[in-house]
Amino acid sequence: MSVEREAEFDICYWLDVGDVIVDIAPGWENFAQENNAPDLDTRRVIGRNLMNFVEGDVTRMYVRTLIQSARLLRKPLVRAYRCDSPDQRRFMEMRLSLERSGLLRWEHRLLRSEPLARRLQFHATSPVLRPHGVVRCSMCNRLKSSHGWTEPDLTEIPETVHDGAIPVIYGVCPNCLSSLPKKTPR
Ligand SMILES: [Zn+2]
Repeated sequence: MSVEREAEFDICYWLDVGDVIVDIAPGWENFAQENNAPDLDTRRVIGRNLMNFVEGDVTRMYVRTLIQSARLLRKPLVRAYRCDSPDQRRFMEMRLSLERSGLLRWEHRLLRSEPLARRLQFHATSPVLRPHGVVRCSMCNRLKSSHGWTEPDLTEIPETVHDGAIPVIYGVCPNCLSSLPKKTPR
């Protein structure tokens, strides 16, 4: 019987109690290079609060709740999410575990990917600038339009696209919000 090899968690960083990124495992550089994100250089990331890298009020609330739950649960918290590239649907998994040192270990791995029907690029905007802007779910990467939350390559984008990038407001869709761990009883 053949067993498919599990994908490794190739991105890993540690947060202190104040959510400051205190260390990053090797492998991060490849990720930053592949994503053409020189501002994600480890030297510029270590020492900064994770929330500086999270776009959107609802997404920040979501991430804070995940972190709190992982610290309370005392067992690894695993969540599926999407981190699409312009051409690919990328199905990811994250795992948060509290280490004995008190640091929170946050790992990510790619489970599988498949091509998108069309190339899509996004850049973050704010609801203040664009009150009727397209909302992109930070967790499942679906877009909200008049037809509800749909796959990005199946969503009609009403807005004019500049430089090929679609301005989006980052949020979390109701489906992903409902997957948040419920508050643990005291
Ligand atoms: Zn979602």
